[in-house]
Amino acid sequence: MADTAWQQCINPDCAKKYDLMEVLHRCGECGELLDVQYDWDQLPVPGSLEFFEGRWATRGNPVDFSGVWRFRELIPFASVAQLVTIGEGQTLLRKAPNVAEYAGHSPEKLYLQYEGLNPTGSFKDNGMAGAFTHAGMVGAKVVACASTGNTSAAVAAFAAAQRGIRAVVFIGSGKIALGKLSQALDYGALTIEIDGDFDDAMARVQEVSRSEGIYLMNSLNPFRLEGQKAIMYRILEGLKWEPPDWIIVPGGNLGNSSAFGKAYMELMDLGLVKRVPRLAVINAAGANTLTSIYNTVGVRWDKGRYDREKVDAFYSELDAGGIRAHTVASAIEINRPVNLSKCLRALEVMDGVTREITDQAIMDAKAVIARSGIGCEPASAATVAGLKCLREEGVIGPDETVAAVLTGHHLKAPEATIAYHSKEGAGLVAAIGIEKAAFGNRPVKVKNNINDILRALRESEGVL
Ligand SMILES: *Cc1c(COP(=O)(O)O)cnc(C)c1O
Ligand SMILES: [Zn+2]
Repeated sequence: MADTAWQQCINPDCAKKYDLMEVLHRCGECGELLDVQYDWDQLPVPGSLEFFEGRWATRGNPVDFSGVWRFRELIPFASVAQLVTIGEGQTLLRKAPNVAEYAGHSPEKLYLQYEGLNPTGSFKDNGMAGAFTHAGMVGAKVVACASTGNTSAAVAAFAAAQRGIRAVVFIGSGKIALGKLSQALDYGALTIEIDGDFDDAMARVQEVSRSEGIYLMNSLNPFRLEGQKAIMYRILEGLKWEPPDWIIVPGGNLGNSSAFGKAYMELMDLGLVKRVPRLAVINAAGANTLTSIYNTVGVRWDKGRYDREKVDAFYSELDAGGIRAHTVASAIEINRPVNLSKCLRALEVMDGVTREITDQAIMDAKAVIARSGIGCEPASAATVAGLKCLREEGVIGPDETVAAVLTGHHLKAPEATIAYHSKEGAGLVAAIGIEKAAFGNRPVKVKNNINDILRALRESEGVL
C-alpha cells in the first residue's frame, strides 16, 4: 500500500507529502491539516457503487460485515489483514414522515441516518475503525484523545477489543454526558478529567501526545476521517446509490462534515456519482464558531487560500472576551473546531451552508425525533432543528431529498432527556438551560391503588 497511499498537506501552496507510516498531527512545514491521498490509477476501484452490494452475501467475514470496510476499495490505505473492526457501521437510513412535518418538509423526503446503532452508540466508531487500523500499522501501544464523550467511548472500546493497546482519554470536568463517561470507565480507559473544558482538553492532549509519542485519536487524525467517509457511502446505499439533495450534520470539531466533503470529492473524481448533495452544517448557538466565521466574517475555502488572518483574529476575540462554548448539546460544545479548514473545503465542494440553532430548538427537535421511534442525543437533533430553520428560510425546498445524520444514541445523555420530560419553569432552566418543553412527557405519580391508577389512565389522552 505504501506507494499508492500517502499523507499530504491540504494547503495547495505547500502540499507536502508524508509517508503513510509517519505519525503526525499536522503538516510539519506549514501547520495545516493532512489528508490521506491515493494514487487511484494504481488501485482496483470498482466501476460502480453497486459492486458493494455483493459484500452482503459474505457478511460472515468481519471486514465485509463492517459498515466501513465493506467499502474498503474507497478507503485503500491498508491491506485486508491489517483492518481493525468491532462491527461498526450497521446503521439504518429511515424515512421519518412525522419529523419531516415538524420541520415543515415533505413527509416522504426526509431520511434519518441513525448512527446511534454503532457498537458504542455514536458515529465515532466509523472513524475509529480507520484510526485503529493505522495505529496497528505503525505499532502504537498507547492511544489518546480529548473528548466531549463519544470519542472517548469509541477509543476505549476499540482499545479494549485490541490486545496490547492502552487508551487514555482526556475530558473536561463536569462536561461529559453520563452515558459516555460510564462507557469510558467500563471499557477500561485511563480517564483523565481536566479542570477545564473540551478546548482545554484538546490542547493538552496534543501536547502530551507530541512529547510522549502517544498515538492521537482525535479527528485531526486523517485516518479517522477516512473511516467516517463510509457514512456517505451507506446513505447512498440506502438511497439505491442516488445522492440526496441535502446532507445535514451537526458541527462540533467538524470532522464529520470534513469527511463527507472528501468522500464526495473522491466519488466525483472516480466517476462513481453524477452529482454532489449540498451540505448543511448546524452549530449550537452557544458554540457557533463555524457559523460566525462562515456567515458573519465571510471566510471561504477559496481553493485552499482561505483568509487565515481573519480566522486568527476571530479566535483572538474569543480569547479576549473570555468566551467559552456553552450548549446542552455537549457533543458539539466546542469553540475551536480543529477541522475548520477542511470543513471550509467541504462547504465549497458541497455548495454548503451553515446555521446556528438554540438549545430550545435542539431539545424540542430531539423529543419529536424520539416520537418517531428513533432516540438520539441532543447534538444529533440539531440536524432536524437546522432543517426546520432552512425550510423556513426557503433555502431547502419542500421536495428536496434530505438525509440528516443522527450522530449519537439517546441513552448517551439520559440526564438531558429526563430533565426535559420531568422539569418545568426555573427547574428546567437550571437543568438544561431551556424555558419550556413543548413535547414534554411527564411521568404520572399515583398512589398504589387501582382507583387512582384507573383515574390516571382515564385522564390521559388515548388510553381508555
Ligand atoms: C462528535 C459528535 C458530533 C460532532 O461531530 P464533529 O465531527 O466533531 O463535528 C456530533 N454529534 C455527536 C453525537 C458526536 O459524538
Ligand atoms: Zn503544509
